[in-house]
Amino acid sequence: KVRVRFAPSPTGGLHLGGVRTVLFNYLFAKKHGGDFVLRIEDTDQNRYVDGAEQYILDCLAWCGLTPDESPVAGGHYAPYRQSERKPIYREYAERLVAQGHAYYAFDTPEELDHARKEIPNFQYGQVYRDTLRNSLSLKTAEVEHLLNAGVPHVIRIKMPTDESVHFNDMIRGHVSFETNLVDDKVLLKADGMPTYHLAVVVDDYLMKITHAFRGEEWLPSAPIHILLWRYLGWEADMPQWAHLPLILKPDGHGKLSKRDGARLGFPVYAMNWLDAKTGELTPGFRELGFLPEAFLNLLAMLGWNTGGEQEIFTLDELIANFSIERVSKAGAKFDFEKAKWYNAEWIKRLPAESLKLEVKHELAIRGIEANDDAYLIKVIEAVKDRCILLTDFYHQSGYFFETPAEYDLPSVKPKWTDVKTDFFNVLTGKYADVQTWEPAELESVFKALVEEKALKIGDVMLPFRIMLVGGKFGPHVFDIAALLGKEVVLERIAMALG
Ligand code: GLU
Repeated sequence: KVRVRFAPSPTGGLHLGGVRTVLFNYLFAKKHGGDFVLRIEDTDQNRYVDGAEQYILDCLAWCGLTPDESPVAGGHYAPYRQSERKPIYREYAERLVAQGHAYYAFDTPEELDHARKEIPNFQYGQVYRDTLRNSLSLKTAEVEHLLNAGVPHVIRIKMPTDESVHFNDMIRGHVSFETNLVDDKVLLKADGMPTYHLAVVVDDYLMKITHAFRGEEWLPSAPIHILLWRYLGWEADMPQWAHLPLILKPDGHGKLSKRDGARLGFPVYAMNWLDAKTGELTPGFRELGFLPEAFLNLLAMLGWNTGGEQEIFTLDELIANFSIERVSKAGAKFDFEKAKWYNAEWIKRLPAESLKLEVKHELAIRGIEANDDAYLIKVIEAVKDRCILLTDFYHQSGYFFETPAEYDLPSVKPKWTDVKTDFFNVLTGKYADVQTWEPAELESVFKALVEEKALKIGDVMLPFRIMLVGGKFGPHVFDIAALLGKEVVLERIAMALG
């Protein structure tokens, strides 16, 4: 059975690349009737950030990418938080030591700092491992002594000399690494916690992960993981790797970073992230007014396509169409204008009913309580094609709930005449008598009066709109008038003339 995992470290907010990793794992799993596991990789206590795990869970919930197994959902392979699995890892690290594939190292942080300073391009590998304090350079008796005395130590992998490590990446094809260029990474830390490298291999094995999609930034770690799979005797069960292409800056020059978002004025996080320590708020797609459907759709297209014309996909369609062969090796440029286009398309496509809660929320945070659901649905229907972001609903529909605070009359007023005032006074009387308050009826009454007064329709149509809306925007003016209702329309005309 296909089993994939998303294995984030809870170190802060989730970048859009992180959500794309979730999505590709999820699509692949669901396409093959498999399971999607969420595992929290929280073994690095120094980088652990309070609230980050909850943020990840909220983010998956917002996107509708529900894990089959997770720290909250539980599952057959629980626990799913690596810090709660601490006792599991030592055994494997020690097994590697016994086999000669790993060793104890007693260097103090000061000794390591010194080595890094003194030696250019210092690497704890074949060249220097014998000069530092470790079980390969010390006599067995000394090592015993240090261990018995409880001297702090780590366990490091012993990278082989002059070998190359190969594997077949599902996206990149054949990849190979020279072991001489890879550090002897720490596997087990002085506090007994595994590092990412050991924990990811042990847990992928124990959790029976079959395919692992992760960001390209993990490619340099792949040789370490592959050797660990081999040394632990599990190579036959190793997941198939897929290293996803980078998401690039809009100009294609380098990886998209959090700073690019701030610099260019768009979000790169899925949801707002508030750093409790610095008080810094990193804006997110959700709060900016993106629909989860659009967010997933645009992420799917960053590095994948069907080869056809279709650009808008529901999650189910993505699952049905997803194929790893069509994920590109090259980085994908992030284009915020295109991202907004996806959102606008999704707002158009979704029925008003599906947008109701979001729009209610958008209005509520700006002080408008839209309590009449039937009315709200009609309003959404009327304006949704004009909204790119959910936040646009306030500007585009606020006047359906509140009298405009300001009229853009100055742009009309210079040409204002008594004839126009008279027109609207008479119109008020006629509208007061209208029985069927519907767009067609309102339009015909209006046009008949324009004719009667020998005006041009253009002379009074825009002023009418401004009286109702406050500005020169919005759907058909008679649709607006019909929706607003007689009382409000008459009131607004009176106010504007007042
Ligand atoms: N814990 C790693 C991260 O934070 C997971 C990398 C992987 O998927 O192997 O991204």
